[in-house]
Amino acid sequence: MLNKIRDYCRDLLESKKVEGILAVYTENGNYFPYFFTKKEELNNLCIDKKYLLLNSVKPLRENLVFLLQSKMPGKRIGILARGCDERALFELSKRGQVNLDNIETIGYSCNEEQAKICTCPTPYPTVNLKFGEKVEGVSEHKRWKEFSQLDIEGKRKFWEKEFSKCIKCFGCRNACPICFCKECLMEDRKFVKGGELPVEIPSFHFVQRYHHAAQCISCGECEIACPMDIPLRLISFVLLNRVKKLYDYTPGMNPKQECPIYTIKEERNEEALDELL
Ligand code: SF4
Ligand code: SF4
Ligand code: SF4
Repeated sequence: MLNKIRDYCRDLLESKKVEGILAVYTENGNYFPYFFTKKEELNNLCIDKKYLLLNSVKPLRENLVFLLQSKMPGKRIGILARGCDERALFELSKRGQVNLDNIETIGYSCNEEQAKICTCPTPYPTVNLKFGEKVEGVSEHKRWKEFSQLDIEGKRKFWEKEFSKCIKCFGCRNACPICFCKECLMEDRKFVKGGELPVEIPSFHFVQRYHHAAQCISCGECEIACPMDIPLRLISFVLLNRVKKLYDYTPGMNPKQECPIYTIKEERNEEALDELL
């Protein structure tokens, strides 16, 4: 697949269909995001390491695509995108962070092993898959069975125990591609005290998780980043399932479907609302 992708990218650069291609560069065992503008550089293009290209660069809190598009307004750029990159593009475009009109998305699929590492339900781009095959994703969090059998008090205690492990390192926030607010509520001293542990339970985590209820693109980066092994994706799985049931919306699947947070429905889905309680 790698050679085919390199050839395809070479053609795009030679034909000047794009100014350059954002992808992962590898050299001496290191890898990092890079904007390829010369075909000779494509020998260093890498597809076997996950690196979220849409992540916001902290502390600037600007994602790389936003920075590229600001530097070259109106120019077309290519992005070599995994499923999570495509989903991030779609959700960020709905929030005015990137302009999809000037982006050439070159999608490729991940394998099942990668999907397990990420707890990813859709390990491929749904709209722009060009290279590779769709493989089965992960449809349930590894701690779902244990969690789902608890009553409401048990669930409260479950999260109290998990959140009390948090060391407030902000790794989950920093790793998240759709966390792009310049002023983060998790750092607002009205909600969260500075330099003190334990964290405020549950506000510290729930501020972020509820913020993401209709925009989490299931990349798994928050949970991978957490040094305390807190099952952050479990919260996302619960919230995303409910958003799906209430609004038939899965973030990142359809660039044209409006996010339910920006819409008001006249009729309520009483059955789904009952389930929330
Ligand atoms: S989150 Fe999904 S699409 Fe992204 S790297 Fe992991 S398996 Fe691939
Ligand atoms: S899985 Fe975690 S890091 Fe990825 S988008 Fe959702 S909340 Fe953000
Ligand atoms: S990464 Fe884990 S320990 Fe760090 S702030 Fe997030 S939940 Fe807490």
